[in-house]
Amino acid sequence: MRPETLNRLFTLTTSLAGVGPRIAKLIERVAGTKVVDLLWHLPAAIIDRRYAPKVADARPGTVATMTLTVDEHRVPHNPRQPYKVLCSDDSGSLVLVFFHARADYLRRSLPPGEVRVVSGTVERFGNEIQITHPDHMGTVDEIERLQAVEPVYPLTAGLSLKVLGKAVLGALEGTTDLDEWADPAFLATNGWSSWRQSLLTAHAPESEADLEPTTPARRRLAYDELLANQLALALVRLNMRRLPGRSIKGDGRLRGQTLDALPFNLTASQETALAEIIVDMADGARMLRLVQGDVGSGKTVVALLAMLAAVESGAQAALMAPTEILARQHLATIEPLAAAAGLKVALLTGRERGRNRQGIIDGLASGDVRIAVGTHALFQEDVAFRDLALAVIDEQHRFGVHQRLTLAAKGGAMDVLVMTATPIPRTLMLTAYGDMDVSRLPEKPVGRRPIDTRVLPLTRLTDVIDGVRRSIDKGAKVFWVCPLVEESEELDVAAAAERHRELGQVFGERVGLVHGRMKGREKDAAMAAFTDGPVDILVATTVIEVGVDVTAATVMVIEHAERFGLAQLHQLRGRVGRGEEAAACLLLYAPPLTQMARARLDILRETDDGFRIAEEDLRLRGAGELLGTRQSGLPAFRLADLTVHGDLLAGARDDAKLIIERDPDLEQARGRALRTLLYLFERDAAVKYLRSG
Ligand code: ADP
Ligand code: MG
Repeated sequence: MRPETLNRLFTLTTSLAGVGPRIAKLIERVAGTKVVDLLWHLPAAIIDRRYAPKVADARPGTVATMTLTVDEHRVPHNPRQPYKVLCSDDSGSLVLVFFHARADYLRRSLPPGEVRVVSGTVERFGNEIQITHPDHMGTVDEIERLQAVEPVYPLTAGLSLKVLGKAVLGALEGTTDLDEWADPAFLATNGWSSWRQSLLTAHAPESEADLEPTTPARRRLAYDELLANQLALALVRLNMRRLPGRSIKGDGRLRGQTLDALPFNLTASQETALAEIIVDMADGARMLRLVQGDVGSGKTVVALLAMLAAVESGAQAALMAPTEILARQHLATIEPLAAAAGLKVALLTGRERGRNRQGIIDGLASGDVRIAVGTHALFQEDVAFRDLALAVIDEQHRFGVHQRLTLAAKGGAMDVLVMTATPIPRTLMLTAYGDMDVSRLPEKPVGRRPIDTRVLPLTRLTDVIDGVRRSIDKGAKVFWVCPLVEESEELDVAAAAERHRELGQVFGERVGLVHGRMKGREKDAAMAAFTDGPVDILVATTVIEVGVDVTAATVMVIEHAERFGLAQLHQLRGRVGRGEEAAACLLLYAPPLTQMARARLDILRETDDGFRIAEEDLRLRGAGELLGTRQSGLPAFRLADLTVHGDLLAGARDDAKLIIERDPDLEQARGRALRTLLYLFERDAAVKYLRSG
């Protein structure tokens, strides 16, 4: 249960004074729906209101806070004229100017004869010193608050700084000191204050320098967020390891038969990865290992051999892919190789229905089916394996190990192997998977040729179409990927359909279309027409849809390449050039291209090293943008910026590891405080894994 001290932070922002449903909607746009979201909404600038001159000395164009006597209200005769309030101090007089004024409100805030503190931008208008619409007005008692440095928060249309600032203050007032979860020695070394003090400091910048992500206060907050992330992952992993495991040892017979049937030898890194997996499986504890390698690096073959080891021991193995098309793709790779070992492979996706589906389910339950490939349909309620020993999860370019592990944990004592094709930088690996065992496949199978990559403006579409014509006349197959519109799949589809129509006017029946809104059978037909049929150009929408392996495809055209993450572009490009033929990739952009966008696309021209591409993308755009966070399933951080706080991540990982070693159920004093940290950063799910969670 979430500690009571945090409950106030986890109410809706409407619980704050001054925040009604309309304002809450606006706050949701910049920060979130809950009070705690406002705590993480840090100032991006400051307004210094400490300048407190006499009227006669006030410099026009600066923000000043002045103590004035209210002399007279001048109500305009014509409502289009401004309402003026004349004020003065002992050095001179100043006019406050209001358009569309509410007279009653002004009479109340600025009663004639009284002294008031007013803050705003000083202007000179002819001989008059003016402030038009002061930012703040208050009594002399409030001078300390008014004559301060004001934090400026990122805003959205309709949300004023005044309103948001007040809401943030309200949120901060709802915080209490929490028991310290950080290691005292670590705090001392870094010169960090407590969580609450750091939070208050971060929200009360006194200078521009205080806005830097490198201030002690902001670093502390970033660290807390990373520690919550690392601790949560460590707990998931610990939980996996605690579940009973088993030792899986095959006799190598099936693997031998398949290896003999392979038309190639395993690369050294495939051999190493496989050996690591086999050792893990033979071990009595549960395996939780990641195989990381670029598209085409040979992960699937490694996974199949691991699955065969499970089958040799008398158990079953399953491979789960993120989409139906990919599941079919894996089936196509695996089926003939498994056949060499005398095994049948079953396919189970959302499309297997009725009697067919029942047959497969019966086979899994009886153990007749030894190897299954599919989507998450494999792990639906009514699917029970007789003895599933190994689950291989192909994440492609999505992440979400958390959720998938929970899913996988449904089964018995199974080992888990996660395959990922995205060569994400080490820092991001850590945030997505924690300290998971990793096998890497850095080298590509021999014989691959580099892909000729060009960057062209969309205005040269006619040239591109000419080039495509030359290619298909020579027998090439062309992928044509259409823009990714983040907000709307419908728009994606519309754009692709439009391009399909236009290309159809040039190439007629030789153009096909596949997109996410199509029914499974339609997709299959479109794919088949492309791989073995008359279609030479396949227009496709999202990355997922082109996660297919067509050896014949040698040209990849990507429209609006500037909208994709570099890693995604790299993935897409990896779809061509898998055969003997020379391959090309055309990255089409809508001009004008920003310098940054140009630099990003140029990286793709320069290298096809996925790790380098990922590192550069992280450097140029920051983690949030790297894979399009929304799509990738990578954790999005509010306070930590990995391009600046990368060093803290390593610290958080080590700390999480130590914590788990010393107090695996977070029961000691520091452990209890750490539970609060997990709740604070909404890692509630991780707390459930604790024995007394
Ligand atoms: P991934 O799953 O990493 O994208 P695959 O396992 O599907 O890669 O392999 C891509 C292609 O390379 C397949 O056609 C596969 O048969 C082939 N391949 C895999 N390993 C090797 C190897 N050691 N030598 C040559 N070709 C290989
Ligand atoms: Mg094991």
